[in-house]
Amino acid sequence: MPLMRIPYTAPLPPPTIIPPSARTTSGAVSALTDFLDHEFGQRRAALTRSAGHSQPQYQSQSPSRQNDDDGVKKTLLLTGAGISVASGLADYRGVNGTYTLNKTYRPIYYHEFVKSHEARKRYWARSFLGWTNLERARPNRAHEAVGRLGELGRVGRVVTQNVDSFHPIAHPSLPTIELHGYLRSLVCLSCRTEYPRSTFQQQLAQLNPAWSDFLQEMLRTGALDTENPDERRRKGYRTNPDGDVDIPDAPYSTFRYPACPTCLASPPLAPDGTKLDAEIDDDGAWRRGSGILKPAVIMFGESISAAVKTAAEEAVDEAGRVLVIGSSLATYSAWRLVKRAKERGLPIGILNMGGVRGEEGFFEGVAPENTGVAAVRCSEVAEKVLPVVVGAIEELEGLKRGSGSGGGGVAASGTL
Ligand SMILES: [Zn+2]
Repeated sequence: MPLMRIPYTAPLPPPTIIPPSARTTSGAVSALTDFLDHEFGQRRAALTRSAGHSQPQYQSQSPSRQNDDDGVKKTLLLTGAGISVASGLADYRGVNGTYTLNKTYRPIYYHEFVKSHEARKRYWARSFLGWTNLERARPNRAHEAVGRLGELGRVGRVVTQNVDSFHPIAHPSLPTIELHGYLRSLVCLSCRTEYPRSTFQQQLAQLNPAWSDFLQEMLRTGALDTENPDERRRKGYRTNPDGDVDIPDAPYSTFRYPACPTCLASPPLAPDGTKLDAEIDDDGAWRRGSGILKPAVIMFGESISAAVKTAAEEAVDEAGRVLVIGSSLATYSAWRLVKRAKERGLPIGILNMGGVRGEEGFFEGVAPENTGVAAVRCSEVAEKVLPVVVGAIEELEGLKRGSGSGGGGVAASGTL
């Protein structure tokens, strides 16, 4: 069955924090450190018992997995929009799991983009104005912390729902599977050739001088520096209530976009052998036929390619545990990966502000004495806590190296 990207917009209940000590930021750091450094977390739990506390015997959620992830099966991270908020990109859902940014916002669906020239004009006009913000945005401390967790051997792979390319930019040597594609490229619907978005932006500017002038004006006033509609209006950005750009002299229907150069040079063939020509106007803008360029992202209503779907599933199957960061798992494609991990008995962690779709099911059967090794659920800002978690694990590494294998756990336990 093809895996389709569909938004899930029902309100989500607030999370139950696991363990309860993770309600504070320092408690969340400690629990996340235990989750990501579970060998140490287990030793600490044992030390707590032997120190005379009347806690029940510690039990891993799935004891049979304790050995096979030793040094081999690392944590798989599954990240969403929440990890990119600090880079200046709007969270799709906002901190309380609701659509706060723009209540009437409705993303374009794949079938609309493929079928309708008008829908594509509108999409590319808005994308033309929005691209500068994304191109100027950079990975933040959370992405850097993820890269460091890879270097420290705690994280083996990243699956991201984000299309902003921040993971591959921040940590090129830690593999990233981009579940929903990437905005840095375009792909031709006819021949599947990919092109860089930055070049396409220049072509859009040449084909749409009035829009280009408007964009330059908005960049000059700083109206595009914020995602806040009120602030944008104050800086001269004219928008109607649903956030659409309102430019009287340059309506969407006049917007033009280029056709695929490969299809123009060598028209693709239909199944019956006839040539599928791409027609362009005098300036090179697409008019009809083949060679329609689409952003290389999986749009809503579009199926994820079989290769990406399989790669993401294999990443779950090869992982020792799964930690979700900055995602409400609103899309089924992401949610089912965590469900798959749960079914395979992997410990699950979630670091996300606000509720997560169906999360109570991921934490069934977690023992009350769990410190974070078997499960963690906290509602904290990723770029705030992840660098601190990295620091804690680096400290453990230093102490482990300094004191040999015997007393390392005891020495380290005193520092947290
Ligand atoms: Zn093409």
